[in-house]
Amino acid sequence: MMNRRSFISTGTATFLSIPRVFAAATKYDLIVKGGRVIDPSRKLNAIRDVAISQGRIVAVEPSISAGAAETIDASGKLVVPGLVDIHTHATRTKDGPALCLADGVTGLIDAGSQGADRIAETIAVAKSAPQQCRVLINIGRAGILPEGDTMDISRADVAAAREAISRNREMIAGVKARLSRDVAGPNDFEVLRRAQEVASSFHLPVMIHMGQTVSPLPKLLALLKPGDVVTHMFAPPPNSIIDDAGHILPEVMAARRRGVKFDLGNGRTGHLRWDIAESVLKAGFLPDTFSTDWTPESRTAQVINFPNVMSKFLMLGMSIDQVIACATVNASRIFPVFRNRGTVKVGAPADLAVLELREGSFEFVDNFQNTRMGHQRLFPNATVLAGKRVANRT
Ligand SMILES: [Zn+2]
Repeated sequence: MMNRRSFISTGTATFLSIPRVFAAATKYDLIVKGGRVIDPSRKLNAIRDVAISQGRIVAVEPSISAGAAETIDASGKLVVPGLVDIHTHATRTKDGPALCLADGVTGLIDAGSQGADRIAETIAVAKSAPQQCRVLINIGRAGILPEGDTMDISRADVAAAREAISRNREMIAGVKARLSRDVAGPNDFEVLRRAQEVASSFHLPVMIHMGQTVSPLPKLLALLKPGDVVTHMFAPPPNSIIDDAGHILPEVMAARRRGVKFDLGNGRTGHLRWDIAESVLKAGFLPDTFSTDWTPESRTAQVINFPNVMSKFLMLGMSIDQVIACATVNASRIFPVFRNRGTVKVGAPADLAVLELREGSFEFVDNFQNTRMGHQRLFPNATVLAGKRVANRT
């Protein structure tokens, strides 16, 4: 039987020793162990352990033996910087950002779901998003309309957009101008001119939605400044970035040289056709960034999730490092809110996507119902946001 004295001393010893043992066992908050870390920001592609403390990456080493409060076994999987998706419509529904987070997307932009009239709705969702989320304001003040955002040119209201940005400077990361025939009709050039008028007063980028425009693409590209983004870069004619002979338009090359970025914008209608994507890649014109053009509906058709979209470009011949770069470091450089993201560098915020690269036979569909078979597909496996593992959705 234990007497009172020994009970106390045992208790005290236990009390004293636990914190010491605890401290040694939990040097880190989280270790992601044994995965292939692909971090194009540092040209790293190797098996590494990643240790995280207080929301930051604190060590990236071949083997980390110190303990952690939690461990993710990533053996056989890829560990990449948290994905940054610069063209989504995730704030259309309250749970959109969380659904994207489960796919590995730790930073996202809602690209023009709303204009000045209802920008507060999309900003409210962006503010409540678990991950970094910002919005682009649609230059059409009523946002996306079935009859065309700016078919009525009075909707491209410079004063209203400026006023909305002044009120929400923190949350509005740029201006979106959707320029297709069925969105802006013959107003495309004037819509873009007005978008630039709004953006330039705040030093913000403009993202244009290209493809099937009334105006020739070169005329529109002439209005783009360094840092602006062209989304839907693989849109088929009329007004592709490539001509019938397989040459990238000289105005497109010039735009890239002066710092205009070219983005995928997968979407579901009219934006992506395999033969165009093949010709553009064959001409050596690789995308700067990938993006999904995600909507809740696209989860079951064509887009599915960001890793699936990335997989299409493995099928089209890009390397895994190139594919990861387009979804991480390249995307993080477009908007200042992501400047320190898109990397697995020591000191960076600990946002990670653990992906599984499966081998097999996988069917991919473009926006024109053409199917192609690929032999690899990326699947989301786990997400780490600000150093914490995101709970799997059930
Ligand atoms: Zn879109």
